[in-house]
Amino acid sequence: MGQGGAASGLPSLLFLFLLCCRHPLLVVPSQEVTHQVTVIHGTTSQATTRIQTSHQATTSSQTTQSSIRVTDEVTASNFLEEYDEKSLVVWNEYAEANWNYNTNISTETSQILLKKNAEMANHTVEYGIRARRFDITYFQNTTMKRMIHKIQDLERAALPPKELEEYNQILLNMETTYSVATVCLANGTCLHLEPDLTNLMATSRNYDELLWVWKNWRDKVGRSILPLFPKYVELSNKAAQLNGYADTGDSWRSMYEMPTLEQDLEQLFQELQPLYLNLHAYVRRALHRHHGPQRINLEGPIPAHLLGNMWAQTWSNIYDLVVPFPSAPKMDATEAMIKQGWTPRRMFEEANNFFISLGLLPVPPEFWKKSMLEKPTDGREVVCHASAWDFFNGSDFRIKQCTSVSMEDLVVAHHEMGHIQYFMQYKHLPVTFREGANPGFHEAIGDVLALSVSTPKHLHSINLLSSDGGSYGSLPLAEQDINFLMKIALDKIAFIPFSYLVDQWRWRVFDGSITKENYNQEWWSLRLKYQGLCPPVARSQDDFDPGAKFHIPSSVPYIRYFVGFIIQFQFHEALCKAAGHKGPLHQCDIFQSKEAGKRLGDAMKLGYSKPWPEAMKLITGQPNMSASAMMNYFKPLLDWLLTENGRHGEQLGWPQYNWTPDSVRSEASFPGNGRVNFLGLNLEEQQARVGQWVLLFLGVALLVATLGLTQRLFSIRSHSIHRPHRGPQFGSEVELRHS
Ligand SMILES: [Zn+2]
Repeated sequence: MGQGGAASGLPSLLFLFLLCCRHPLLVVPSQEVTHQVTVIHGTTSQATTRIQTSHQATTSSQTTQSSIRVTDEVTASNFLEEYDEKSLVVWNEYAEANWNYNTNISTETSQILLKKNAEMANHTVEYGIRARRFDITYFQNTTMKRMIHKIQDLERAALPPKELEEYNQILLNMETTYSVATVCLANGTCLHLEPDLTNLMATSRNYDELLWVWKNWRDKVGRSILPLFPKYVELSNKAAQLNGYADTGDSWRSMYEMPTLEQDLEQLFQELQPLYLNLHAYVRRALHRHHGPQRINLEGPIPAHLLGNMWAQTWSNIYDLVVPFPSAPKMDATEAMIKQGWTPRRMFEEANNFFISLGLLPVPPEFWKKSMLEKPTDGREVVCHASAWDFFNGSDFRIKQCTSVSMEDLVVAHHEMGHIQYFMQYKHLPVTFREGANPGFHEAIGDVLALSVSTPKHLHSINLLSSDGGSYGSLPLAEQDINFLMKIALDKIAFIPFSYLVDQWRWRVFDGSITKENYNQEWWSLRLKYQGLCPPVARSQDDFDPGAKFHIPSSVPYIRYFVGFIIQFQFHEALCKAAGHKGPLHQCDIFQSKEAGKRLGDAMKLGYSKPWPEAMKLITGQPNMSASAMMNYFKPLLDWLLTENGRHGEQLGWPQYNWTPDSVRSEASFPGNGRVNFLGLNLEEQQARVGQWVLLFLGVALLVATLGLTQRLFSIRSHSIHRPHRGPQFGSEVELRHS
């Protein structure tokens, strides 16, 4: 369900089914806590009253709003037992209907799904309202308190029935639009996102061909999603407000139970900036070599279609263009996998074996029978976006993935199996707690294993690399190490700003500071600011480029991936230590370490029953999120990049922020319509003028920040020997932030 949640509407509470692929998705939602209390105590409940009114028919068994609060814990315990029993049935049926829709998109399956959605909403409302009758303020049992608090959040089911129906239909329409979209060639052949367009973006090195794919996907999907999006925002916000939140972004952030979440994440982002800026400058030079100065400016942003991925979120597909030492052996196991006849099933078996080697759980037989591990060839339309699903009966867990035989998808297979392992580890908990410690934890588990699987040592051990390099350990800065770290950085470091900005954009859409007139313009401002990317063709208000990314039409929060990427390195570092690894962190393989497995298992068993710092402590021995493990992992690469970029006199950042490639300029003017091209955006003159002033300000700020950064980098370099485990702190970049 994942997306389910969304899309189909998952009701919420639940869910989880989840997730996906490297960015995948997932599900659910969650609700949270702090606010509910306000709803319950305070003057309550305008929210409660409205909900009761609107759902009277379905909640007739419940009493009407009562001013008397139930404080008896035995009554609460009985209520929770009943809730658990009922939820298992309702959630299972919902998951089944959602699965059927996801693996066979049709009018019939979507109608059934909408019906199950309604049943789920009734269930959520019925029990949510009953939960709101408890006054949990003085409950002794904190676990019970946490459960009731969660059940009190009705999520989308808080909407009046008519609006809930409309909301679910919009979500379904957006996800279906995205999933069935194709781009057609002049000869009538139509290409799907997976695998056709994805493969073209990954393998083509032709500027114009890439541009065609990039633009047409957005013309097709983004523009179709745009008319649906404002109403989605409105109804989603209304549901959040009925649950006591300021808006949907507030509701999503509450899952982390961190009052300073936004500041904390900004701090983590800043700490990782030296890695990103150096990688960006290095990759930009390689693209300049390949595509030439008309298309790449060494001091400007990079056109967004040249990085091997439809959204430029991970860049490892252009490894061949940027490989530091071309003569060293290749790090990619894809060729060997194909040559040896690997199948998608074999890839998931390999991932399963890794979990077993750590002393964790094997997937049950039902997993192999019911999962969809390949794209069907019988003509069914399916939601290809990879996801993992919990059916809430303790034995039915499935993955849906249109798997290609490649190293990239082997990593995704581990990612998805991480979700399945989490489901299995917490299946003994009450349903309310069958979620990750926070959503980032759920995303991180499988990736942690993939960090070990990707090492040359491990690939060699499963016969996917002919050479393990032999010299690892004795030559920590060997050319192969740098090649390896570059490959990993193209995915992990490149993804940091992207995973950070998606919800920066959405949070501001939800709080109203980005309006529909500015959806696309603000999206590109953030893409420029954080990623240093520009659109390769002019964009206008009629475009809706965020809508061409799965998680936007599917309403799946994205900051979880940012969190997941950072904490997976913390987990990796701690587990390597537990496994007795000696030597550089990037060479560690935790395969067969029962010690490492135990730590992961203990944390997963907690589910959502405790605030996430408890789970963090079980794995790492301390309660905080930190970027230092990631900095430590990539330190040899950062040192190498500093030297390499210094050798070329590389300008970090993109001081020529308003440069555009010739592909934009060629269609830059729109004579007679009073519009101008500004930063790749097709705007009214007045808008462009305001934008110029803003950019002038940002440009000055960027220059100052860049000068400061350069100085910092020298300083880091000279101090790095003395501070091997601490990430550098970057002060200000702040100027680039939107207010
Ligand atoms: Zn995932």
